[in-house]
Amino acid sequence: MDFNIAVVKGDGIGPEIVDEAIKVLNCVGEKFGHTFNYKEVLAGGCSIDVNGVPLTQETIDICKNADSVLLGAVGGPKWDNVDSTLRPEKALLGLRSELGLFANIRPAMMYEALADACPIKKEIIGDGFDLVVCRELTGDVYFGKHYRKESENGYGIMGCDDMNYSTYEVERIARRAFEMARVRSKKVTSVDKANVLETSRVWRETVTKVAKDYPDVELDYMYVDNAAMQLVRNPGQFDVIVTGNLFGDILSDEASMITGSIGMLPSASLNEGGRGMYEPIHGSAPDIAGKNIANPIATILSAAMMLKYSFNLTDEANVIEKAVNDVLNDGCRTADIALKGEDVLSTSQMGDKICEKIKLG
Ligand code: NAD
Repeated sequence: MDFNIAVVKGDGIGPEIVDEAIKVLNCVGEKFGHTFNYKEVLAGGCSIDVNGVPLTQETIDICKNADSVLLGAVGGPKWDNVDSTLRPEKALLGLRSELGLFANIRPAMMYEALADACPIKKEIIGDGFDLVVCRELTGDVYFGKHYRKESENGYGIMGCDDMNYSTYEVERIARRAFEMARVRSKKVTSVDKANVLETSRVWRETVTKVAKDYPDVELDYMYVDNAAMQLVRNPGQFDVIVTGNLFGDILSDEASMITGSIGMLPSASLNEGGRGMYEPIHGSAPDIAGKNIANPIATILSAAMMLKYSFNLTDEANVIEKAVNDVLNDGCRTADIALKGEDVLSTSQMGDKICEKIKLG
C-alpha cells in the first residue's frame, strides 16, 4: 500500500531524529511491501527564518492533504525574542486546530532494560507500568472565554477563564479511550474533579453513558488530585487514563517523567477521521542539536503509532516496537539513557541498529 506523509522536521534535533524515523519506516515498508511517500514542509523557527511566520498556508495545505504528519520538534533560543504571535510553538497550535486534532495519546511505559532510569523505587514500581494518557485537546478552560473584571468585593482586578465541556466533546474522547482500552488491558480511568466542578460532573455523566457501549471494558473514576498521587504511588494500576485538556496537560507530563527517559516517549494527536500528527513528547533540545547524539527512539515510536492508529498497520507497528525493545535488551544506548561507563551510540547508529533488528525479525 501507498501512504503519503507530511514531514515537519522542525528545529534543533528535529531533523536528526526525524531522519532516523524515516529510515525505520522505509525499512518496515521494504519488509512488508508498503511505500511511504514523504513531503517535507517547514514549520516553527525554520519557517520564521524563511517565510517570516511559523506556519504558512502551504504547510497547512500539505499537512491536511497528507495521510498523516510526522513531526520532530520546533523552537529554540534563536526565536525566543520574536513577537509572541510569531513564536515557533504557534505552528503546533495552528496545525492542531487546522487538522481538527482532538485526542492526544501519550503512552508511558517502563522498559525493563531501563528500569534504573525510573525515578520511583523498585519496590513501588514492581513489575513496571504500561499506561496511556488520552487527553482531550480542543475544549476546557484553554478554549473558554479569557477576560478580566473588577472584583465585587474590592479585591481588585480579577482574572477569569471560563471552563466548559460539551457532552459531544466528552463523548468523542471517551469513545477513543474505550476503543483503545479494548485492545490493551480493558480498563479506563476517567479523571475529573466532579466533587467541585460542574464541567467535571457533565464529564463524568457522559463517560458513564458511553461506558454502556463497552461492557467488556472496566471503568473507574478518580479525582485529579488523587490521580496525580496514584501515578507516583502505584502507576501499574492504570491502563488508559481519559481526561480533559487541563488535567491531561499536567498528568501526561507527570506520567512521562516517571519513566525517567524523555527521549523514549512518543505521542499522537488524532482527528475524527483517524488522521493524526505524530511527534516525540520532548522538545527541540537545542543544547545537543547538530551533534548526532540525540535519542531518536521517541520519534521512531511515534512513527510506529502512525502505522497503528492512522494506517491500520498493527503488525508493522509491533515489529518496530519489538525492535526497539530488542536493541535496548542488547544494551544499545544513546547518551541520555546510558549509565556511567556504558558504550554510547550516536543518533544514526541507534536508527541503524533498530533497522537491523527489523530486517532480522
Ligand atoms: P527539551 O525537551 O527540548 O529538552 C529538555 C532536556 O531533555 C534537554 O537537556 C535535552 O537535551 C534533553 N532531551 C530532549 N529530547 C532528547 C532526546 N531525544 N535525546 C536526548 N536528550 C533529549 O525541552 P526544553 O529544553 O524545555 O525546550 C527546548 C525548546 O523546545 C524550546 O524552544 C521549547 O519551546 C521547545 N519545545 C518544543 C516542543 C515541541 O515541538 N513539541 C515541546 C517542548 C518544547
